Amino acid sequence: MKIPILALKPETEALWAELIDGIEGVLKSGQFIMGPKVAALEKDLAAYLGAKHAIAVNSGTDALVIALRAAGIGPGDEVITSAFTFFATAEAISLVGATPVFVDIDPQTFNLDPKQVAQAVTPRTKGLLPVHLYGQAANMEPLIELAEKYHLKVIEDAAQSFGGDYQGKKLGTIGHVGCFSFYPTKILGTYGDGGLIATNDDEIAEVARTLRVHGAKQNYYNEMIGYNSRLDALQAVILSVKLPHIDQWITGRRTAAHYYNQLLKDLPGIVLPYAAPYTKHVYNQYTIRVLNGKRDDLHQQLHAAGIGTMIYYPVPLHKLPVYAGTTPSLSVAEQYAEEVLSLPIWPQMEKETQATVVEKIKAFLNC
Ligand SMILES: *Cc1c(COP(=O)(O)O)cnc(C)c1O
Repeated sequence: MKIPILALKPETEALWAELIDGIEGVLKSGQFIMGPKVAALEKDLAAYLGAKHAIAVNSGTDALVIALRAAGIGPGDEVITSAFTFFATAEAISLVGATPVFVDIDPQTFNLDPKQVAQAVTPRTKGLLPVHLYGQAANMEPLIELAEKYHLKVIEDAAQSFGGDYQGKKLGTIGHVGCFSFYPTKILGTYGDGGLIATNDDEIAEVARTLRVHGAKQNYYNEMIGYNSRLDALQAVILSVKLPHIDQWITGRRTAAHYYNQLLKDLPGIVLPYAAPYTKHVYNQYTIRVLNGKRDDLHQQLHAAGIGTMIYYPVPLHKLPVYAGTTPSLSVAEQYAEEVLSLPIWPQMEKETQATVVEKIKAFLNC
């Protein structure tokens, strides 16, 4: 039996009739890009997140690029971000002409360490870009305090944490602007690319809306150099069918995570995900640390046994060829890149399937 890292089939099958209905509706409407389906989705997403504006775009990467520009960040500016995240976080900073300044992560949350952020602020710092990695919130309060002290914009990368919260407030709505991805493997995923910008700031919203359509408020009267970053109606109807189920699916992920915690708790050399007191993890990934240099062997043995696991991420950003030499050693990010292993998880995952994964891990550890 093969166990994938993520099974999308259960949610697709459960919603099959509604999805086909929605897709048919778009085919019949003849309106394929933006239009009323996208507007309806934006309204529902704004309500779900508790944000004044929700602006749908083409991908999570585009959401970051457009949000950074809408927040006024550009050439000559520095943006402080995590060294331990997906490449797109930093790529977006570089794409707008700014410089990503990488700092180390907090050993418990795997997210930006506010103390190190404070030490990295310079006169050129213009923004902070915390990532809520794996579905776990970064510790936002000290970051917001720093941002107020130094007049910085806070752009949240919530690509892996749709539906998660920080002290009861939805992630992506705590800083000045938040960015989400609807890539198929994310918490709320579509069947293609998609992304979202959320903000309570009218000015940021207006610039972001303009940038996504070639920098024009009115067609053919372009005011800035923008992007072609519209969401299409097919992706919007799929997301609209899925959105009402999202809280139930997040609960399913949490239940699965808690069961893993129970099964894995006393295994030597395995460190379980941390439950931060200020948030409820949404577990886009269930990521353990495998100590004593055994991660790669465990990864390979699980693969050989038909169990899909992933290493998010094998190289911290400051060690990638494109950013090599920019940053001195960041010891926690470097260590964790060699220890992290994400186990199979999805909302409908069955206990027996989880038990099979854990049996194989136990066999590897000889316990
Ligand atoms: C997925 C992801 C992105 C990029 O989103 P896309 O929709 O794939 O462009 C950015 N940041 C993080 C942390 C992600 O996980």
